[in-house]
Amino acid sequence: MARAAVPGRLSGGPVWRVATLAETIDEAPGARTLVFDVPGWPGHLAGQHVDVRLTAEDGYQAQRSYSLAAPADGDRVVLTVQKVPDGEVSPYLTEGLSPGDPVELRGPVGGWFVWRTSDPSPVLLIGAGSGIVPLMAMLRARRTAGSRVPFRVIYSVRGPEQRYYVDELARPEPGVDVGYVYTRRTPEGWPRPPRRIGVADVNTGGWPADFAPACFVCGPTGFVETVADILAALDHDPHRIKTERFGPSGG
Ligand SMILES: Cc1cc2nc3c(=O)[nH]c(=O)nc-3n(C[C@H](O)[C@H](O)[C@H](O)COP(=O)(O)OP(=O)(O)OC[C@H]3O[C@@H](n4cnc5c(N)ncnc54)[C@H](O)[C@@H]3O)c2cc1C
Repeated sequence: MARAAVPGRLSGGPVWRVATLAETIDEAPGARTLVFDVPGWPGHLAGQHVDVRLTAEDGYQAQRSYSLAAPADGDRVVLTVQKVPDGEVSPYLTEGLSPGDPVELRGPVGGWFVWRTSDPSPVLLIGAGSGIVPLMAMLRARRTAGSRVPFRVIYSVRGPEQRYYVDELARPEPGVDVGYVYTRRTPEGWPRPPRRIGVADVNTGGWPADFAPACFVCGPTGFVETVADILAALDHDPHRIKTERFGPSGG
């Protein structure tokens, strides 16, 4: 499918739009940010996603969901895709697509896993792997809006080279704290051995439940379930814990 994929025909009615790749940015091995121009894009909220559809020459179609990585900005739509090596769609998006190439795109999708700049509560973002993508849209939306809402971010990655948005997340930003959990390899001099996220990480890197933060958790299913359980065990209001699952359990 990936190699045969060609620009889709507009067969799905007016909701499918042609998105033309304008620019790419390499984020990490196998992970690429794709900046599209999408004429007529209606805008979106941080946390929402889109459906991307590819159509092969024989008419076979495949579609997948991808989170929006940046807040609304006219006709620009920004995604970050991690290649799943045996996947059907992600290898094409990360390696087969060049600037000027079109895909079809539908959205925005999702009204629950969203952060609105009007919400004054502190925010806790906990992501693993490509699960950082919609959380990055929230951080960027905070910046774009000039919001002073305090944000804490816990980003779980296998090793330092797997981190996305490295420079942007390292830039000091008043009111924003970013912490990492390394599950397989740590940077040199890191004070802890690699490990999966646990209660201590969420307790020290997050907000006390008394602050009633809005919590957003995104990543592979197993990660999201673990973190949601930890937040509940730390007495966070279940209604304030919003989750988005990206892939198969443990993926
Ligand atoms: C709401 C939502 C938002 C998403 N946002 C993003 C995003 O911003 N960036 C991004 O890279 N992905 C995102 N995903 C995942 C994306 O939709 C695809 O599942 C992923 O790109 C794999 O598609 P594929 O066609 O390459 O693999 P497939 O052909 O679907 O799968 C190939 C193999 O990989 C396994 N697999 C499928 N998905 C994953 C995964 N996520 N992790 C590990 N193994 C997997 C499958 O079980 C199968 O064995 C999102 C998913 C959802 C539901």
